[in-house]
Amino acid sequence: MCANMQSNPEKRRDTASRDGEGPRDEAQADAERETLMMELTRLVQKSVRESSWWERRGIDCSILTAAFISLPAGFLLLGSCQTLYFLSGVLMMGVAHAVITVKGTHLASHGALSESPAWAHFWAVFFIEVCGSFSARAGVQAHVKMHHAHTNVITLGDSSTWKMPFLPRSVYLFIAPLAVPIITPIVAISQLKGQSPLLILRTVLCVCLGFFSQYYLLRCVSGLSCSSALLVMLLCRAMFSLPYIHVNIFQHIGLPMFSATNRPKRIYQMTHGVLNLPRNLLLDWTFGHSLISCHVEHHLFPFLSDNMCLKVKPLVSQYLKEKKLPYQEDAYVSRLSLFFHRYQELMVFTPPITELVGIQ
Ligand SMILES: [Zn+2]
Repeated sequence: MCANMQSNPEKRRDTASRDGEGPRDEAQADAERETLMMELTRLVQKSVRESSWWERRGIDCSILTAAFISLPAGFLLLGSCQTLYFLSGVLMMGVAHAVITVKGTHLASHGALSESPAWAHFWAVFFIEVCGSFSARAGVQAHVKMHHAHTNVITLGDSSTWKMPFLPRSVYLFIAPLAVPIITPIVAISQLKGQSPLLILRTVLCVCLGFFSQYYLLRCVSGLSCSSALLVMLLCRAMFSLPYIHVNIFQHIGLPMFSATNRPKRIYQMTHGVLNLPRNLLLDWTFGHSLISCHVEHHLFPFLSDNMCLKVKPLVSQYLKEKKLPYQEDAYVSRLSLFFHRYQELMVFTPPITELVGIQ
């Protein structure tokens, strides 16, 4: 039922009629589409209501707490003269950093860590600014208000911020991501333009607090020299930046793209424009299910925590398959190969607008 073609409402209606849909009443069709999303929402809400606090937030909060608890051991191991202990320290700090700055910032940006709006705001500032060296306001705006609200809508949520067409494919896919820890605070500074002086002051103070506390502890607890401390910080912060960039582009780019003036209903937008990767023990823990194997569920229900996304996954996938809607999944290596071989088409050229012929 889905085909690529340039935006043309007349042609679209004609094609819909030819496909045997007949001259359907628009209002009735709209109501049917709303019903699908409402029906799925009811099923998911029922599952959420039947879940305990532990399932709704406790598991994810515990994983984040475990990452913070592992930090003292990481600092102590980094002070060891023995290579194996030192490398264990680097690994421990790198994993903890990924859990805190990817899983933590992502859940915090959606307000999924607390039911209280005040606490949700506090956690967003703590995770995004102190731990993630980015502006909470700009992060929420870019991720929640643009990417989620306008998923795969060209010029709004088309993931083009991830594109760097001037870079060759090997550099983009395997080398440039290592610079993410350096680029992030620079982009954060550029995002401060136009914000209130108080907000700018808060962001600068929080980013400095996060950066200098890690530096200070590496110097004082681990006993590292100035240059070694900075090098360890870069190593730990860049450890997961390759999969971080990969995951961000694999799950949306190359899938159907929509026009801002003629976008499909939400359930079609998300099922066609979002893809799940398979479960992966390391990335499930560090990035969270909502960014790996439950990205479709996350885009349909962004308020759910990682664990709840995993819990409702069978329900959502079964429902979508029953309703003959796509439930897109692909392996990490398969996506990497696709982006490597079709880099020009996917990451350099502007994607064509897709119309969901026949079901619109
Ligand atoms: Zn999200």
